[in-house]
Amino acid sequence: MKLAFEAPVLHTLTVAGRQERIPVNRVFCVGRNYAAHAREMGKDPDREPPFFFMKPASAVVDAANPVRLKYPPKTQNYHHEIELVVVIASGARDVAIRDALNHVYGYAVGLDMTRRDLQLQARDQGRPWEFGKSFSQSAPIGSVYRAEDIGHPGTSDIAVEVNGKTKQSSNISKMIWSVEESISYLSQYEALEPGDVLFTGTPEGVGPVVPGDSLRGSIAGLGEISVSIID
Ligand code: MN
Repeated sequence: MKLAFEAPVLHTLTVAGRQERIPVNRVFCVGRNYAAHAREMGKDPDREPPFFFMKPASAVVDAANPVRLKYPPKTQNYHHEIELVVVIASGARDVAIRDALNHVYGYAVGLDMTRRDLQLQARDQGRPWEFGKSFSQSAPIGSVYRAEDIGHPGTSDIAVEVNGKTKQSSNISKMIWSVEESISYLSQYEALEPGDVLFTGTPEGVGPVVPGDSLRGSIAGLGEISVSIID
């Protein structure tokens, strides 16, 4: 295939301890998948179930090593959301919950970086979330750990520190939709494809970062990501 011009068409992620890399296809994100976070966003998790939104593959940043993210334009409220990230290895539609984990390649620590002011403005006006959620560098992801090597994490602690102070601290067992349920639900609306990436939602404690801040995100068994914010 001959391309008309060069473009950054392939975004890839590091696999822990291996040479091969993950080709990123699409990025799906679960919204309000922890009850305490839904409440801090002013929503009642008993009345509104989680839902999905997307980021472009080009928003992904390989954060297997420490990375620097440029403070994005047009925001005064740039937030961290620490999340368990799931990488899909094999495509499927209408996946049964009991089969869902068979489609998982592995897991990683990710940050769903958010321009909260733009997101809430869009939300409250009934408009799409793209400017709040789907901008460049909004999806740093650490090394991907293969399910074949580590199994499927179900009860791991998840946390993020900003400048050494813990801001979010929870456990992935508190997700409203489990990984299996999210995959099954999503696959009813859109056939999953290899390289699809799923952000599974963030626990409570989201908050702003500014240039000069350092974030350290972790999930037990999946290592850490280090992100510094620059001007
Ligand atoms: Mn999120």
